[in-house]
Amino acid sequence: MDTHSNEESDGTERHQPHQSIPEAEQGPSSRARQLEAIFEAIADGVFVYDKDGHITQMNKGARDLLGLDSQPGYTALSLEERGVMITQRFVQGQSLPLAQWATTRVLNGEVLTDTTAVEFTMRNLHGREMRINLSGAPIRDQEGNIVGAINICRDVTERRKLEQRTQDALHALLTMAEALVKLPQGSGEIIAQTGGGESPAPTATHLVEQRLVDLTRNVLGCRRVSLTALEQEAGNLRPMAVVGLSQEEERQWLREIGRFRLDDYLAPALLARLQTGEVVLNDLSGMTASDLLTYGAREVLVAPMHNGTHLIGVLTLDYGGAAHTYTPEEVALAGAVAKLATLVIERERLLQESAEARARELALRETTQRMDEFLGIVAHELRTPLASLRGFAQTLLVQTALGKGPQLAAWQGKALAGLDLVAQRLSALTDDLLDMARLQAGQLELHPEPTDLVTLVQRVVTRLQMTTERHTIVFVPAVEQLVLHIDPRRMEQVLSNMISNAIKYSPEGGPIEVTIAEDIERQEALLSVRDHGIGIPAQQQAQVFQRFVQADNARAYGIEGTGLGLYLCRALVERHGGRIWCESVEGQGSTFFIRLPLASPAAPARF
Ligand code: ADP
Repeated sequence: MDTHSNEESDGTERHQPHQSIPEAEQGPSSRARQLEAIFEAIADGVFVYDKDGHITQMNKGARDLLGLDSQPGYTALSLEERGVMITQRFVQGQSLPLAQWATTRVLNGEVLTDTTAVEFTMRNLHGREMRINLSGAPIRDQEGNIVGAINICRDVTERRKLEQRTQDALHALLTMAEALVKLPQGSGEIIAQTGGGESPAPTATHLVEQRLVDLTRNVLGCRRVSLTALEQEAGNLRPMAVVGLSQEEERQWLREIGRFRLDDYLAPALLARLQTGEVVLNDLSGMTASDLLTYGAREVLVAPMHNGTHLIGVLTLDYGGAAHTYTPEEVALAGAVAKLATLVIERERLLQESAEARARELALRETTQRMDEFLGIVAHELRTPLASLRGFAQTLLVQTALGKGPQLAAWQGKALAGLDLVAQRLSALTDDLLDMARLQAGQLELHPEPTDLVTLVQRVVTRLQMTTERHTIVFVPAVEQLVLHIDPRRMEQVLSNMISNAIKYSPEGGPIEVTIAEDIERQEALLSVRDHGIGIPAQQQAQVFQRFVQADNARAYGIEGTGLGLYLCRALVERHGGRIWCESVEGQGSTFFIRLPLASPAAPARF
């Protein structure tokens, strides 16, 4: 539509759009025609008013904006009358009174540009709701009197819609992220009972997945959105959630999608791009097989669910048979939702793993506790008969030696001595087991008293020296006396164990050096037992203090043991407020150290 040809029909009086155009160039002059052409070509709607608000001129943009073709008489109307025909509203929705119309304001002298430009909604003459951004300025004569106004109106409906959609998308993403965060612990558990229908009750994870697809569909306005996981071994698809199918189709999809793999749908090149984390558009038009569950979709946007190393699933969406051009925002949103869905799956997997680990740990703890109780009972039950057995064997041996009763044959004497030794070992083992059971139950009692460590060690050294001829136990205390507040029986047990080990694990014999020193600075006693035996492999040195642990080389030598001695030593030393450790070189020997506080330990006597 051309302004000139519409002069009469739209009732617009021809006014000069600009005051500064020289008289000589008006009318048919080329300058005026040039300006006219520029005026018409401006995409925004330009309105020129006289001082009473009558429209004196407008360009094509303005006519289109108004939808003037349906109401040609509109421009002849007064400002008030026009106001009735196009309802202007604030963007918040309430109607805009005439006094606040931008035209009124400009005619009153306001200049509306850039930051002061006004935005309002209006219904044009075609009844189309539009959002308009208006800037304008009054036209003044040479004296400065307002003789009219010029307004420039821009249709920002689409731009605002796009902004709104971006906002909605952001909001949706936030909601999804929130849903993820709020996913309850142990979300694999069923949280809603469906009352025994054919489908299983949904889990919290499933509800979140369903929400993700619902929200995506709402924001993008597409036909169908689905989330599908990939089975790691076979690569088959596993249905997670779908929206936009009929009930019948949905049931079929859930039931049958597992028959397919991703490469049934995607060409290798597209699959490779997906695997690098790219969102891809898959043209389905060539896929005619009706059993591929594509439900008439022409093309599908596929976003990868990537857990860092693996493609673990995909989000797909389509607009059915309709053609659709995907905007970068839509592609980005699909990618973001797929990432969120990845987090849901990963979280679920981790929760499940930790629940399993917890269950295993609990089961193990219970088994251990039962075993401890059982060992405690067995040990207790063994103790008395073992003591009688030893007593019996010893009595027989001693009485016979004293000439009381009939003489024993040599083999009988030997057998009795052997019996006594075995019973002695058994009773030592029983004692260890009992101690262990007490420790585990927190019932091991200590009876600390002032004890001279030098005398105590000397006693143990003397006793154990009598058990071996191949070893020389050298005791070199750096102090004459060192009185500590310890349980003498328990500390003797610790030392016996350490020195017995030194003997046992030096099958070739040799010296065993025992030392005691006082560390004045740290207010500690330092005790060491050194042998030149088989040593302990480096990687097992930290473990020998755990119960039932025997180093590989000890086993290889065929040296028997239960792996309880050092465990008890450590527990007893630590209960005394001290520390035990070893230094060893396999094949060269070991040194075991103990540090004990000189002052009485703060730890309670009963554990
Ligand atoms: P046991 O000697 O009954 O097996 P311990 O708890 O006393 O149990 O010792 C645990 C393990 O530590 C032993 O099986 C052995 O492998 C290693 N070990 C302990 N003392 C020594 C030592 N002096 N020399 C070499 N290995 C040792």
